[in-house]
Amino acid sequence: MPTRREFLRNSGLLAGGMLLAPDALFAQREAQKLMILHTNDFHSRLESFPDNHPKYPGQGGIARLKTLIDEQRSTHEYSLLLDCGDVFQGTPYFNRFGGVPEYKWMNMAGYEATTLGNHDFDLGMEHLADLIQNYARFSILNCNYDVSKTPLKGLIKPHLTVKKGRLKIGITGVGLNPEGLIPAHLCENLVYKDPVASVQEQVDILKKRMHCDTVIVLSHLGFEYPGNQISDKKLAAETHGIDLILGGHTHTFLEAPVMVSNKKGSNVIVNQAGWAGLQLGMIRLEFK
Ligand SMILES: [Zn+2]
Repeated sequence: MPTRREFLRNSGLLAGGMLLAPDALFAQREAQKLMILHTNDFHSRLESFPDNHPKYPGQGGIARLKTLIDEQRSTHEYSLLLDCGDVFQGTPYFNRFGGVPEYKWMNMAGYEATTLGNHDFDLGMEHLADLIQNYARFSILNCNYDVSKTPLKGLIKPHLTVKKGRLKIGITGVGLNPEGLIPAHLCENLVYKDPVASVQEQVDILKKRMHCDTVIVLSHLGFEYPGNQISDKKLAAETHGIDLILGGHTHTFLEAPVMVSNKKGSNVIVNQAGWAGLQLGMIRLEFK
């Protein structure tokens, strides 16, 4: 095993207050547990969908999410709350308030980090830079966008390390190719770099140089595509050293996380939690 992670129990997704796949952790002396909660593609869904919504009546939104997050946190000593981008766009709140209430919600919920989704650029980089500087009390992680010639310079981190008990956790973020997805005038001078090489570089730094016990990637690449397009599953298969990829962009609902074999034959957990706060992703890890 490349890491001190001896075994990894199952994990599940929470929906509408129901635990779909509860785990049963073995009692292990000295083992340390870590619970990772995650969301993606929030799309400004501060309020639940209306009660007469054809697909998601009364579902989604921050009130339900906060209840789930608090419930889970109250029963786990060590937890992380992460997001995978596209926080913005989709309700009139964004058009009216430009993303401020979304970031205030994330502060209130206690998010540690998010990554950049294509829609996070919708009001331009100057606006985004202003939001990050004035409101975000969490990290914005991305390792494959060179923003040094843009207003985002200095505001996006390639990685973050977090200590939880005895564990050191390394987190990086990765974004999709802006071509065709972010209008050129909204990402002027942003340089897109190869996701696989960029992530591998960060993972190597986090594992080898910074001695992280586990490495998590926050991705806005999308879960999977037909053909050769880079996705979370492809990223997992073409790298080594990643333990967990949390994804977004494709609004994928999964019954349970997916295991992908990496370049060296170790398992990578890949998960995504729908969108709009309709689900809260949950991964429970146990380290010995
Ligand atoms: Zn997206």
